[in-house]
Amino acid sequence: MDKHDSTQRAQHRQEVARVLAGFTPADIAAWDQAENLPTDVPAALAQAGLLGSFIDTGHGGRGWDALSFGLLCAEFGQASLSLLSIVTVHSMVMEAIRLSGTGQQRADWLPVLARGEKLGAFALTEPDYGSEATGIQTTLVECEGGYRVSGRKKWISYAARADVLLVFGKLEDGRAVACLMPADAEGLSITPMKGLLGFRAAMLGEINMQDCFIPSANLIGGIGAGINYVAAGALDLGRLAIAFGSLGAMEACVTDSVIYANKRQQFGQALSKHQLIQQMLADMMTAYKAAERLCWHAAELRSAGSPMATMETATAKYFTSTHAVTVANQAVQIHGAAGCSAGESRTERFYRDLKITEIIEGSNQMQQVMIAQNGMGEFVQSARRRQRLLAEN
Ligand SMILES: Cc1cc2nc3c(=O)[nH]c(=O)nc-3n(C[C@H](O)[C@H](O)[C@H](O)COP(=O)(O)OP(=O)(O)OC[C@H]3O[C@@H](n4cnc5c(N)ncnc54)[C@H](O)[C@@H]3O)c2cc1C
Repeated sequence: MDKHDSTQRAQHRQEVARVLAGFTPADIAAWDQAENLPTDVPAALAQAGLLGSFIDTGHGGRGWDALSFGLLCAEFGQASLSLLSIVTVHSMVMEAIRLSGTGQQRADWLPVLARGEKLGAFALTEPDYGSEATGIQTTLVECEGGYRVSGRKKWISYAARADVLLVFGKLEDGRAVACLMPADAEGLSITPMKGLLGFRAAMLGEINMQDCFIPSANLIGGIGAGINYVAAGALDLGRLAIAFGSLGAMEACVTDSVIYANKRQQFGQALSKHQLIQQMLADMMTAYKAAERLCWHAAELRSAGSPMATMETATAKYFTSTHAVTVANQAVQIHGAAGCSAGESRTERFYRDLKITEIIEGSNQMQQVMIAQNGMGEFVQSARRRQRLLAEN
């Protein structure tokens, strides 16, 4: 596909929007309330070819570029961030195999995952290690033909439903590895997690592994590369998904607020006529437009294979999720009591869900650390270039 074909991209977006329109707002609210996603939902997404969009056609995907993938995530975010999280973690598993797997592993796993015949979950976080991923305690002990894996993983999206888990752990000598673990492996149990602030239909689970066997062929990436390469590469794509997903949810908050502010009358006129409401709407619209530019920029750099793509994706994720929380807060404010009630509007769900986007795929503090550390070099270099130019003239 021509990476720059905007007509094709618009068609992709429309296709995604049409599929998602098959789920009514009442359906989506019901999943959230029940903290459960009906099994036919992922099946419908798989059937529509939306679970492997960025994987090349030779491996069962659609061959969409990073911007089309981003726009797909924006559509999912507009509908439901719980639903987006399934696309995110499933895509992260595929991305790890795409970037770090052998040719044989790509041939064995990508087609079944891209077609949604099997669904994946990304199992990095542990009860005692979140941001400090290099500290994880899950161990892999070598045995005949493979490894025995033991450890606990917590807050794993879609764990309660996935067929295969990308598990991160360490060998006895401390080197980090990633491996594919069937969810029905002997010694593995998954406990669903309930009572979350947001992403309530994302089927989170806690995983307990006791001497679970995996064959050597299931190790993804080199020994020692588990966190810094395999997880990092997958999280880079995950951040793009969350950036665009938050953008989509932000758009929904702005749109709902405009519609509500035009309809709701107080003090003899529509809310939208009150200047303090207009001030909130202006800030929401400005934040949306700025975030949209950052998301598109990150996706275009990714499609172009630019070395700047990772940092710009972190920046887009940080900016978009932070501002999306503010926008959702303002959307609830504009809706008043109706914004606090699931039966009256969807803004309360977006407010709860968007808070989560500041924590997942690397918390926003971790993004700030990355942005600052990288940006310091970038800005010093740019100042030096400027000095050289001035000296030449
Ligand atoms: C809904 C949901 C879905 C999730 N899905 C998955 C999943 O699918 N797979 C998975 O592996 N994990 C998942 N997680 C876990 C998520 O990735 C972690 O919550 C995240 O990495 C943060 O780790 P933590 O919660 O342990 O917080 P901690 O690392 O304990 O951090 C707590 C706070 O301290 C801050 N902090 C930590 N270190 C520093 C520092 N050096 N400087 C400044 N501030 C710091 C953090 O930003 C955060 O605000 C999910 C979490 C949620 C809530």
